[in-house]
Formats: sequence, C-alpha cells, structure tokens
Amino acid sequence: MAAATMEKVVNLCKRRGFVFPGSEIYGGLGSSLDYGPLGVELKRNVKDAWWRAVVTGRDDVVGIDAALIMHPAVWEASGHLAGFTDPLVDCRSCKQRFRADDLQGTTCPACGGELTEARQFNLMFKTFVGPMEDTAHVAYLRPETAQGIFVNFRNVVETSRLKIPFGIAQIGKSFRNEITPGNFLFRTREFEQMELEFFVRPGDDDSWFEHWREERLRWYTDLGLSPERLRVRPHGADELAHYAKACCDVEYRFPFGWAELEGIANRTDFDLRRHAEHSGKDLSYFDDERRERFVPYVIEPSAGADRSTLAFLLDAYDEDQVEGEPRIVLRLHPKLAPYKAAVFPLLRKDGQPERARHIYDALRRHFPVDYDQAGSIGKRYRRQDEVGTPFGITVDHQTMQDGTVTLRDRDAMSQVRIAEDRVVEELRARIG
Ligand code: ATP
Repeated sequence: MAAATMEKVVNLCKRRGFVFPGSEIYGGLGSSLDYGPLGVELKRNVKDAWWRAVVTGRDDVVGIDAALIMHPAVWEASGHLAGFTDPLVDCRSCKQRFRADDLQGTTCPACGGELTEARQFNLMFKTFVGPMEDTAHVAYLRPETAQGIFVNFRNVVETSRLKIPFGIAQIGKSFRNEITPGNFLFRTREFEQMELEFFVRPGDDDSWFEHWREERLRWYTDLGLSPERLRVRPHGADELAHYAKACCDVEYRFPFGWAELEGIANRTDFDLRRHAEHSGKDLSYFDDERRERFVPYVIEPSAGADRSTLAFLLDAYDEDQVEGEPRIVLRLHPKLAPYKAAVFPLLRKDGQPERARHIYDALRRHFPVDYDQAGSIGKRYRRQDEVGTPFGITVDHQTMQDGTVTLRDRDAMSQVRIAEDRVVEELRARIG
C-alpha cells in the first residue's frame, strides 16, 4: 500500500474534479477552495453518513438548520467576542503575521527578523446588517454552528415531544479568520461543521460522554478509515476550556502529523446558563416524571466535514500495479464513493453501446453512476479506479446473447458474470 502524500492527493483532486483552488481564474484567494463535481458528491456522502448515524438513524436526536448570521448578543453570551482569539505576532522586518503558538523561537520563520509582542486577534468575521455601516449594525458570521442549537433549545423542547436525554444536530458553514490556514482542506477560513449537542441530566453526563466518544470513533472506522491512523486523545487539565468537564479529540495521522478531526466535550450546563443569563429567558428543563426542574448538561461531538473528507481521501489513496501497469486507486468506502458504479460497453459497435446505455439509465434511478465508452477498457477501468468507483459493469458480446454482464470489483479485482436484471440488487447488497 503506497502512502498518500498531500501533494499527490491535491493533484488528484484538481485533475479529477474533486477540489479546485477557489477563485482560480483571478489567481486564487488564500486558502479558499471549491468542490468540483466529484468532490461535492463525496462531501455530501460524508455529511449524509453523519446525518444518518447521528440524526435519522436514532430516535433521540433531531436536526435544525439555523441562520449563519445571528444576533451579536449570542457571541457575547457564548464568550466568543471576548475570548475567541489566537495570539498574533508581526515581523518587524518583512511584516508577515504568524500565530504565536505555532512558532518555536522568537525570530520570524520567513526572514529571521524580530517579532512583536503577541496580541490577541479575534477570529470572527465582521459584517454589517442593513445599509448602515456603524457599530450599532455590526454582526458576525458564525464561527461554529453550536450556538444556533443552544438558542433554539427552548423552541425544540416546546415543539417536539423529546424528553431528556436527547440531542439537536446541525450541519453547516462556519467562518474563522484563521491567521495561518493551510494544509489544503484541513484548515480554511470557511468550512463546514457537523455538530451535535446532546442534552442530559446532570449526573448522567459521564456515561453519555463515553457513549459519544465510542460512537464517533466507530463512525470513522465503519466508513473505512484505518484504525491505526486514528486515535482518541484526552485533553490534559491545561488544555481543558474552563467550562468543560472533559474533552477529547479524535485525531487522524495526516501526512503532516497527528491532528484533530473532531472534538468531543462535556460542556456541562455552561452554554444554556450563559444564554439564560444574557437573554433573560428560562432555559431550564422540566422533567415531568420526576417532577423536577434542572439545566441540562450537554455533550458536544463537533466534527469538520471538510477535514474528514480530506482524511477519507488520504486514507483511500493507493497506488498499485495491474497487469504490469501502474494504477492510482481511491479505495473509498462504497457509501462515500461519488459514483457507485460505471457502465462500459466493451466495444463501440454491435449494439453494445445502446445496451450499456440502457443499463446505465436503469441504474441511474437508484445510484449515482457513470457511463464511459471512450478508450480501451483498461483505461476506462483505471479512470474509475482513480475516482474511487467501487464497481464496473461491462457489456460485451455475451451480453447480447444471454443477457449477462460482468461485474468488476475495484479492490478485489475480481470479475463475475451476473444477469443484467440483477445488477441493482447486487450493487445494493455490496454497497451495504
Ligand atoms: P483547531 O485546533 O484545529 O483550530 P478547534 O479545536 O478550534 O480546531 P473546534 O472549534 O473544536 O476546532 O471545531 C470543531 C471541528 O471543526 C474541528 O475538529 C475541525 O474538524 C473543524 N474545524 C475547525 N476549524 C476549522 C478550519 N479552520 N478549517 C476546517 N475545519 C475546521
């Protein structure tokens, strides 16, 4: 198995339409990136898999989709206005800026010049709501999706019949004016989060924290991430936010080292209490069985859709040899693969393209599939291997006689003949 490098994966992403540099025809914009036709499918599959595992596959979690621009008081209550900062230093010679906590020494890593003292830089993007550009109209693009959940806690309790323990989940864009974005999809200024706030009775929080730590780790391995490149790292007492009782990071071994994919925190009743204080609204919960009122504790698994998409891409990347020819293959889990199958006529004659097209049209009603009749069959297989398509359906002269096609498996490299009217059923069983 060939180890992926960032460079190889970035090149593949560009070449095959997974991810493009943002605003490329204007020279690009910092670390802004755009998902192309295959990337958008991959990332959507990541988000769908999360939503199924965390929301629709359970009976105790519901979803919401809150506004990106929220009342500025939200960020005061949450602590982001005062504390969502990174320490920033400037180089007195070359004027570049760095995150102080990224630097080893006291001289500029770019030119060796002298650095200023660190000052706190708030990572929230500021904008104005309405036509007046004055302080009374300042607002922020949300730096996390979580606060949209807390401010809707009461709405959800009052309009659903959920009883504690229950969760509210959200997937959506967040914005952080990162001082040093980089490593491709790993750190950008605009990214998507997949967050769950799971509300529990105080006292039940430790066991729910364990539950979510296990569930979330399993989610990554179920979708094919190598267990040896995954670990859970508990936060030390010095790292723990003042309001958090416990926190751990799910980390992946990226080519640049171990780094966070997801944070899982026991945030106690900090957020609901702060919003209750700042809004003046009661955000407690009444347990009608036990006849008691309390402010729930919350367990928060907070994942990045782009970061996990990058991890799935890196982990899937492989190079091997097929019949003496080098091949690049993305061994993506079939659930994540942009196309579940590709249909090929072996020859561009004898009615094979029409027959293959017919199968393609039938499959397309069930799965995202591709059709390819250009070039040698070996080339066509390799084109699909490179984008992670797990199955190939080939129509040949025998198809025309007995109605069977070959089904090729990307990883096992096996080929079996099956009846063309069994293809949907067979693919469904293999995709899982
Ligand atoms: P980091 O320490 O890497 O900056 P964080 O601890 O600030 O991350 P959280 O606030 O816990 O991150 O956000 C939860 C998740 O959101 C992260 O685990 C990550 O997957 C994702 N995320 C956070 N910031 C970014 C970013 N700038 N680009 C892409 N994904 C991000």
